[in-house]
Amino acid sequence: MYYGFDVGGTKIEFGAFNQKLERVATERVPTPKTDYEELISTLAELVEKHDKTFECEGLVGLGIPGFENSTDGTVLTVNIPAASGNTLRKDLESRLGRKVALNNDANCFALSEAWDEELKDEKSVLGLILGTGVGGGFILDGKVISGKNNVAGEIGHMRMPLDAWLYMGEKAPLFDCGCGNKGCADNYLSGRGFEQLYHHSTKKKNQP
Ligand SMILES: [Zn+2]
Repeated sequence: MYYGFDVGGTKIEFGAFNQKLERVATERVPTPKTDYEELISTLAELVEKHDKTFECEGLVGLGIPGFENSTDGTVLTVNIPAASGNTLRKDLESRLGRKVALNNDANCFALSEAWDEELKDEKSVLGLILGTGVGGGFILDGKVISGKNNVAGEIGHMRMPLDAWLYMGEKAPLFDCGCGNKGCADNYLSGRGFEQLYHHSTKKKNQP
């Protein structure tokens, strides 16, 4: 049995899948906001409950909107404050007594698409998510390419291309990004980005 968690800022979606990768159970629970122990317990209890139901020890994988630091295993995630700065994978492994896989949610999405019938014969697949921000995942030969720092394929934090700057005109705004850089695609090609661009351009229009 495979257990997959989509851990988001407001909810955690759990799915149990059989050997044919058919979903046989689903649960959705609120994400604990600030209490790390509660977050670990919420995840572990879902696993333990379904272990009992299916009388097995399922394999566990988590997708999170963030990254695991490749040096110390701490997680960097803006949307799940309870997890940020903690060694989420390691702590869940000790609680459950088994290996846990953890990856960026955009990578999980890209991997899922890459394994689908239509794309399974493609050597490389790039998955893009345009939502509140811009997420991306790069798959090569059916495997996630995370790179040395676990941020490969994260196109949201690449700078907007020159063509886009030319298109936006001479006074294109250079937005600060939460990552510390300026001009990242995350702040232009997303829901939040469209809002910022709208405010920027309407403010200009209102000026005398
Ligand atoms: Zn950025």
